[in-house]
Amino acid sequence: MNVLVINAGSSSLKYQLFDMKTENILAKGNCDRIGLDGHLKHNPVSNGKPVFDSDIALPTHAEAISAVIEKLTSDDYGVIGSLSEINAVGHRTVHGGRKFFGSALINDEVIEVLEDCIRLAPLHIPANLMGINACKEAMPNVPMVAVFDTAFHHTIPESAYIYPIPYKYYEENDIRRYGFHGTSHRYVSDIAIKHMGGKAEGTKIITCHLGNGSSLAAIKDGKSIDTTMGVTPLEGIPMGTRCGSVDPSLVDVISSIENTSIKDTMDILNKKSGVLGIYGKSSDFRDIETAAGVDLDNGDLTDTANTDKRATLALDVFAYQVAKFIGSYIVALGGLDALIFTAGIGENSPFIRRAICEKLGGVGIHIDVRKNAVRASEFLDVTGEGSKAKVYAIPTNEELVIARDTMEIIK
Ligand code: AMP
Repeated sequence: MNVLVINAGSSSLKYQLFDMKTENILAKGNCDRIGLDGHLKHNPVSNGKPVFDSDIALPTHAEAISAVIEKLTSDDYGVIGSLSEINAVGHRTVHGGRKFFGSALINDEVIEVLEDCIRLAPLHIPANLMGINACKEAMPNVPMVAVFDTAFHHTIPESAYIYPIPYKYYEENDIRRYGFHGTSHRYVSDIAIKHMGGKAEGTKIITCHLGNGSSLAAIKDGKSIDTTMGVTPLEGIPMGTRCGSVDPSLVDVISSIENTSIKDTMDILNKKSGVLGIYGKSSDFRDIETAAGVDLDNGDLTDTANTDKRATLALDVFAYQVAKFIGSYIVALGGLDALIFTAGIGENSPFIRRAICEKLGGVGIHIDVRKNAVRASEFLDVTGEGSKAKVYAIPTNEELVIARDTMEIIK
């Protein structure tokens, strides 16, 4: 049984083909610059055939899916004999609105709900729909499943998801906290629970998904009870280019300074803010840490004489805000058993994990600096001596969650 996992963005399409008997990846890759010129990188990881990495014309998502299928089945780069060996497709879908709180077999009703969700996620849902439609065209008889980023957070109580704005916006327009990165928070918290004895009941966990987009979740008894992202993925902690939670009046203030429309000001908050806004030169944490004099391999500060002050400030602001949300989630959970770091930064940056945990000493959380001085290529326990909660770094695997959910639904 092979499942193709698709993650479609507005100009990109990432894919992984899983053999679900072993859960091994047969091939993976990504189409970039769709609608502009086009580039495909295809890696047949399972059989040692060469990697295809070249510019090819990709005017729309339909051509991108055709190119992916051609590569998956080709003599030179392929991993399967024909299209019939793709048994199901799982689509990463960013928003399920108030209707879908679990993965769903894609049918007309799901498409209708997704179209209705465009108003809640105008940047993401149209791209998800393009990916779904392109796959439907290329593989009309293959079952497809939508796996929603918002689904894991459906257990959040009203008191955490209602915004203190006129209630009619919730009732009439579905405005509430939804949260994102649900597959990642679910995957790493499940792994932590296994390491903590296997019983979700009674556990109190905070997951920190720190990547280009970042969010935290408070997870009680294995269920999300709060998360930092909101009706859109702009809320919460500062990110690569997104501001996170700021005074909402800034929209008006920046619009006046720049003489920009609300849409253009939102662009500034989405694409030019976060650590990029503070540092000014890059949103990539590797660049920022290097400029701040951090040794990327072990997280030590090496060169403190020639550091870029704004790089240091960007890292300080980020670590402070993450630690502050962790503190508030310890209150929400009524304690803490495990703190988990995951995604690009959470897995690979010993410096950031340490900088955050150093701010948590007052609530009894300590990291072991020596154990922490590596990248987490697999489950990594970095708990310090006397720490009241475990501290783990766990590689996430959102694609595997999507593939597993897809199997579950088509069964
Ligand atoms: P993601 O969105 O999960 O792919 O994460 C991307 C982020 O992870 C980028 O900001 C990268 O700079 C960051 N990242 C990846 N590797 C490292 C590393 N070794 N040290 C610090 N940050 C890293």
